[in-house]
Amino acid sequence: MKRVLITGAAGFLGSHLCDRFINEGFYVIGMDNLITGDLKNIEHLFKLENFDFYHHDVTKFVHVPGELDYILHFASPASPIDYLKIPIQTLKVGSLGTHNLLGLAKEKKARILIASTSEVYGDPLVHPQNEDYYGNVNTIGPRGVYDEAKRFQESITMAYHTYHGVETRIVRIFNTYGPRMRLNDGRVVPAFIGQSLRGEDLTIFGDGMQTRSFCYVDDLVEGIYRLLFSSYVFPVNIGNPDEITIKDFAEEIIKLTETDQKIIYKPLPINDPLQRQPDIAKAKEILGWEPRVSRHDGMKKTITYFKSLSKEELQRSEH
Ligand code: NAD
Ligand code: UDP
Repeated sequence: MKRVLITGAAGFLGSHLCDRFINEGFYVIGMDNLITGDLKNIEHLFKLENFDFYHHDVTKFVHVPGELDYILHFASPASPIDYLKIPIQTLKVGSLGTHNLLGLAKEKKARILIASTSEVYGDPLVHPQNEDYYGNVNTIGPRGVYDEAKRFQESITMAYHTYHGVETRIVRIFNTYGPRMRLNDGRVVPAFIGQSLRGEDLTIFGDGMQTRSFCYVDDLVEGIYRLLFSSYVFPVNIGNPDEITIKDFAEEIIKLTETDQKIIYKPLPINDPLQRQPDIAKAKEILGWEPRVSRHDGMKKTITYFKSLSKEELQRSEH
């Protein structure tokens, strides 16, 4: 049985990756320090013989006994609210944490895939963003702690590939959503759905003309799975190119939740990117991958998940 280590296993994406690799017949070792994750996301896996969990902070030396074939490094705060609250930890998990996991990959002769992000493009001056674009990041702005940690992460990963011959893969993930997102993590999908279901006004930051392109989690997981087993070492965008303004998205959520909420406007956070849309030509060509789930269907599934939460969970909000 092939063995895979997944960091950030108790988080949104990590938990879905654990499910996929378990279903594919792997022995999965999840690792997480639970700083933004929740064991509830993986509690269904604890009874399985081919699943193990280590409660560990990956910025500290990482030790895993036995062989390892693959490592997926997904540990990192991912929502602006989280990484503004814990900026130093965010920088450390992208830098020191990635260094530790690359060292582990070298030691175990394992292939490692790291989770990068569309944020490496910053507030992009090129649209849509392809992998050759170097980005437009304010290093010292509030988002810099996340963006620069991820840019460093890509650099050190390529260096381990070039200088140590480690088998590496880099995925640049664009806004992804689905069940198990934290309702109060501040990202726009759980924020709008939570507000609608609680009967609150939807909070648009800025004038709502900024755009995002939302990818359903199952599509993302499929893209990551294909990338891991490809031979391509340079960064690959995975995301859904279906772009929408935040204002239109708010109206869509009001319709889909069949509520009648009002929209209110709040100031746009500093360095909030004005537009974002992945160019996925490379993923199509190299991985034969493209998203299959429409925003309508994906949002419906996500709304059903949030509706299944208890009243107490639904009421917990940071807005
Ligand atoms: P998440 O917050 O739900 O999950 C992150 C997990 O990492 C959490 O369980 C957290 O406890 C864990 N973690 C954080 N620091 C750690 C540390 N030092 N040691 C061990 N565990 C630690 O976020 P997510 O949306 O699942 O994001 C997962 C990864 O994907 C992140 O690396 C993020 O940067 C990347 N990503 C996500 C998106 C997205 O749209 N969801 C977009 C781009 C990139
Ligand atoms: N946003 C918003 N209202 C909210 C939360 C977010 O208008 O309650 C906006 C935010 O300013 C950004 C977009 O929605 O322009 C996406 O934000 P998110 O935090 O989900 O992702 P990111 O900015 O990292 O792409």
